[in-house]
Amino acid sequence: ERVYRMSVSAVGHDTALYLMICKDQSEARRIDRMRADFIANASHEMRTPLASIAGFIETLRGPARDDAKAREQFLQIMQDQTRRMSRLIDDLLSLSRLEMKPHLTFEAQVDIAKIIETVIASLTPQATENGVAIERDFSDGSFELAGNRDELFQVFENLLENACKYGRSGGRVVVSIRRSEGAAEPEIIVTVRDFGPGIAEEHIPRVTERFYRIDAETSHARKGTGLGLAIVKHILTRHEARLSIESELGKGAAFTVHLPVR
Ligand code: ADP
Repeated sequence: ERVYRMSVSAVGHDTALYLMICKDQSEARRIDRMRADFIANASHEMRTPLASIAGFIETLRGPARDDAKAREQFLQIMQDQTRRMSRLIDDLLSLSRLEMKPHLTFEAQVDIAKIIETVIASLTPQATENGVAIERDFSDGSFELAGNRDELFQVFENLLENACKYGRSGGRVVVSIRRSEGAAEPEIIVTVRDFGPGIAEEHIPRVTERFYRIDAETSHARKGTGLGLAIVKHILTRHEARLSIESELGKGAAFTVHLPVR
């Protein structure tokens, strides 16, 4: 509206209105393009595991028919690919659900520490199996705020899962929670830190983009979809919260969420 008003004084009412309509159209075109790109990417991501499954079915019917060892190995790959597709579909559904419900359902008192405890409990068996210890560094006090419990659960689940997955070589992951009571709006600040390979500076601004994965070859081996952090960012925006990422290559990565307390 500010731009529009400034334009009115500069070029007159009709021209300003015309410019505004043009701007709207180009925004609509940009969104259309983004949607088309998204569908193309999503289809490609689904095609890859399907093509692999189809290939193995052929092989199992033909050359590997009587080779028990190969059969077992191929069935395992097919099972992994099927899981990968299910995860992809779950993530796509999460994103589309978020987009279809532009307004957040707030619950008055969501306890962030409790949510994180539940996430830790659900991830610990897998983490332990992979040699990763999840440590807590919670400061004293209450960590309640108005927000959506399920969505915030998803945020911390994604961040902790990534830390355990990509930071595995570091052997431990530390989750810290504290409150900032600055002069401005109070915040609950959660940091998920790992001590793995970290993220190179040029990738940091891009890791929250849909389907963005660093080093897709090794990442694919780690069974991701490239949608986790896009979902995290989407949910945090709905909570008017902020995500900051810090990393030093070879030393690990820290993902910090600043949640305003309302
Ligand atoms: P996914 O894990 O499904 O690939 P995400 O959106 O969660 O997708 O992450 C995007 C990419 O960011 C990952 O593929 C990985 O390359 C990188 N990444 C995320 N978290 C970390 C981390 N803790 N350490 C190093 N790289 C990470």
